[in-house]
Amino acid sequence: LLDPDRHFSDLSETSEVDELKRWLREYCATRVDFALADERKCFPPHVILDFGNKGLLGMTVPVEDGGLGLSNKAFCDVLEQLGAIDTTLCLFVGLSNVLGIRPLQQYASPEIRELYLEKLATGRILGAFALTEPAAGSNPLAMQTTARWCDGSYVIDGTKHWIGNATSCGVVYIFARTFDGNGKFLGISSFAVDRGSPGLFIGPEAKTMGMRATAQARVILTGVRVSPDRVLGGIGCGLDVAQDTMMRGRLVIAAAAVGTMKRCALIARRYAERRGVSTGRLFDHPVTRAGIADLNNRISAVASLVSTLVSTLDKGLMPPLAIIAACKIAATEFVAKSADDLIQILGGRGYIDTNYAPQIYRDTRILRIFEGPSETLAAFIGSVAYKSPDTLRAFLVKAYGQADAFDEALRVLHETKCKVEVRRIDLSAVDRRLLLREFAGRLVTLAVLSCANDNDAGVRHWLHHHYVSTIAGIDSRIECAAASVADLNEAINHYRDEIGEFESLAAGEDHQVDPFLRNEWSSI
Ligand SMILES: Cc1cc2nc3c(=O)[nH]c(=O)nc-3n(C[C@H](O)[C@H](O)[C@H](O)COP(=O)(O)OP(=O)(O)OC[C@H]3O[C@@H](n4cnc5c(N)ncnc54)[C@H](O)[C@@H]3O)c2cc1C
Repeated sequence: LLDPDRHFSDLSETSEVDELKRWLREYCATRVDFALADERKCFPPHVILDFGNKGLLGMTVPVEDGGLGLSNKAFCDVLEQLGAIDTTLCLFVGLSNVLGIRPLQQYASPEIRELYLEKLATGRILGAFALTEPAAGSNPLAMQTTARWCDGSYVIDGTKHWIGNATSCGVVYIFARTFDGNGKFLGISSFAVDRGSPGLFIGPEAKTMGMRATAQARVILTGVRVSPDRVLGGIGCGLDVAQDTMMRGRLVIAAAAVGTMKRCALIARRYAERRGVSTGRLFDHPVTRAGIADLNNRISAVASLVSTLVSTLDKGLMPPLAIIAACKIAATEFVAKSADDLIQILGGRGYIDTNYAPQIYRDTRILRIFEGPSETLAAFIGSVAYKSPDTLRAFLVKAYGQADAFDEALRVLHETKCKVEVRRIDLSAVDRRLLLREFAGRLVTLAVLSCANDNDAGVRHWLHHHYVSTIAGIDSRIECAAASVADLNEAINHYRDEIGEFESLAAGEDHQVDPFLRNEWSSI
């Protein structure tokens, strides 16, 4: 949390943010070719150096630690601008600021903080956040990486994958199941591991659908020794560090999504204004106008919630985690739909790679998956709404003076629960509960957005239609979920009989150095 005693001078901060936004627009227009960066799978080195010099890689780090000392609001304003320029660059900057810095800034010992913070804030090095493993993605509790206490240090073994910044980082935050010298399990802890540590290897980069100008790679740890002063937030507190960091990451993603949606609206408008179709100008067609109005409603709906959340943080208060999760779900689902709609409005031009839209579509698709897939976040929100709605309600009342839509959603949830529990259908009690939780999360997300847009009747009506169709959808979800795994398998086995299990066995390209030329030689 920010220190509540720190005050941000609105006026000077606004002009600083305006100047940063102006700089970003000018710089990115002339110094970065985003299509080329996508194709070459990296941003040119001057971008990282210049962004570091400009302070963009340590925006909320205090000035005395080398950062810009911006408020969360200012940080998100800059990210929104960047999201409108290029989603990948925005995510690189936003996530480097949060995933790459916050664990260290907030949880490291003063010595370790001193060692890295200024370098991170000024972009001399990058930080990587390594939680995910091949067997542990949406469920981090399944992680297998271990840290065992042995002869005065922790010895870490394991493999992380798809870790952003891993290939170019100076420090990586590793999350591991921790054991004392007697093999007693002490919980999951996180460690600030230096990139140069013996036994730490960075594996191959993943070939991704989007976000191609940034690399995600494996981090392989074999007997990596880490001194106890590199533990972040205390032994056994790793998941708290991860949770706190990822909640901030979710806000970054939401701010990026707002910027990207605004860009989608601008591009869609440009084409629709210029293009003639059989009925006249494309923009004058009611179907097109409805699509663009949908896009505007999505932008307003999310932007107002982001604004509340960042100003809450700037007051030194932590919003309920379920509300941040709702913001992330809405922003990412909306931006993905907006990118798809943009392609549709642009017609064939939307499918041509040089016309911005395909890159936006590819770059935004990951947002519904990383930093918590929509389904797991919805389940989390749903369980909070069922078990302890009071904190959510209190936050909404404090922020918006009322929580009518939320109260109404709770009433519907209660009614739906009663109906689903007694419904005659072949579904276990556990399955019913899981479906209800996800449904509750989706409905509460819309209710929260509705509270956040209380002063905009148009957006509220638009949200209400989504709300009604979400309620209507639960019956069909339940009926579909009643299909057993055996039923589903039977249908899919038919497809297999019809079309076979195709797998490409073509050899592709060889990337290996010939054994005769390698350092280690064993006769072939
Ligand atoms: C480009 C990219 C960058 C990434 N960067 C990082 C990084 O820097 N650091 C890092 O640690 N990780 C990173 N990740 C990993 C990312 O956070 C995970 O992909 C994400 O957490 C989901 O895990 P998973 O892919 O293993 O999905 P799985 O756990 O296999 O889940 C698959 C799907 O199952 C469904 N599902 C899962 N759980 C539930 C549930 N409880 N209820 C209902 N449905 C459910 C969801 O639809 C989910 O999408 C990155 C991934 C990518 C692709």
